[in-house]
Amino acid sequence: MSNRLVVIGLDCVTPQLLYGDWLEEMPHIRRLMSGGYSGNLISTIPPITVPAWMSMMTSHDPGMLGCYGFRNRKSYEYEDLYITNSNHIEAKTVWNHLSRHRLRSILLGVPLTYPPKPLNGILVSSFLAPGKDVDFTYPPEYKATLEEVVGGDYIIDVKNFRTTHKERLRDQIYAMTERRFKAYRHMLTTEDWDFAMMVEMGPDRIHHGFWRYGDSEHRLYEQGNPYQDVIHDYYLYLDQEIGRTLETLPDDVSVIVVSDHGAKGMKGGICINEFLIKNDFLKLKSYPKEPTRLRPHMIDWPKTKVWGEGGYYARMFMNVEDREPQGTIPSREYDSFRRDLKQMIQSIPDSHGEPIGTKVFLPEEVYRKCKNIPPDLIVYLGDLDWRSAGTVGHRKIHIFENDTGPDDANHAQEGIFIWHNHPKLGTGGDNKVSIYDVAPSILDFYSIPIPDEMVGTPLHHA
Ligand SMILES: [Zn+2]
Repeated sequence: MSNRLVVIGLDCVTPQLLYGDWLEEMPHIRRLMSGGYSGNLISTIPPITVPAWMSMMTSHDPGMLGCYGFRNRKSYEYEDLYITNSNHIEAKTVWNHLSRHRLRSILLGVPLTYPPKPLNGILVSSFLAPGKDVDFTYPPEYKATLEEVVGGDYIIDVKNFRTTHKERLRDQIYAMTERRFKAYRHMLTTEDWDFAMMVEMGPDRIHHGFWRYGDSEHRLYEQGNPYQDVIHDYYLYLDQEIGRTLETLPDDVSVIVVSDHGAKGMKGGICINEFLIKNDFLKLKSYPKEPTRLRPHMIDWPKTKVWGEGGYYARMFMNVEDREPQGTIPSREYDSFRRDLKQMIQSIPDSHGEPIGTKVFLPEEVYRKCKNIPPDLIVYLGDLDWRSAGTVGHRKIHIFENDTGPDDANHAQEGIFIWHNHPKLGTGGDNKVSIYDVAPSILDFYSIPIPDEMVGTPLHHA
């Protein structure tokens, strides 16, 4: 068996679609599964692209990384959150360890690798790069090669996937995916490598853009709509690209196909800050006439106890004495206040007054460490059936259109995991794989000792 490993990362590919009825029509995925070890990947809390891929590649939880989402608090001041990038990640990745052992990696599109850092190999960074004018590859010259391979228009990510221009979005996603796989095949066949990894963002974008059209249980589904099969057809297309890619490699190469989290239909949004306003936890200087993003300058801080952030999940921040500049919650009451708030959020019902099964996490209970500034609470509204809407001005708590543009999907806790041609794992489906076990399993594949700081352990045959 080969001692080379190829990873095909498919952001947001979800078990109920990949392993469901459509599997019959995906010969390459089927082949990888039948000769491999497969199942669901249990993602990070929260199951979000940033930090999930980085947690997978470092075997560190988001608290240890100090990265709780795309945007994080810089300090306890009242200010906007900052966008995370690779400079904020101190933990060593799989390819850092491989480089130290003189093994060469080629990386394409792995989230949170911008700005690119040196490694033994080649790195094309990912969608947090501000554009193609910057150096987004290592070495920087590789950018020119990449452009040449794809005919001059490599797409880092589709622009504005929350759009009503559905046909243009679909075409852009296909163009992005096609060029990424083409670039990957070029890297695989022209470079020397021991470890290769790509991540394609297309499945995430297509889920968010087209979920309502294909899911007959979605509130907005219309039978016979023109986009009925968009997600289905795209899954089949991914299967073909995977087949074409593996064709360029020897049969005995080891292959992982993995996603960072799953997807599910979104029932609606819960306006978390409207909920706080209604309960006198949040006071605005003036209530906006139309839905508006909540900014720190809009808040009457001496009269505010809590504020929240929107996104696929909610983050709650408490205004605590001796911590925030104008804190109102006495620090000795922090814990009891936070537990009461947790209860209150857990009991927010749907628009008909029915319970929705919200889960609320305390960071110190789900992370081994809490580096930088964690949110005070992490909230899965309706266990991620509902999104968190951070905007204010709705005059109600439930909304049924996403407040940041058309989007009918939310993230789900479980993604997919397939390892074909592993020397020890053998075959079998229905496994549950922790995202933290992926990096140690990769190091183990190369017989590299697992560093103590990694929290996972290598997968082994049950
Ligand atoms: Zn993702």
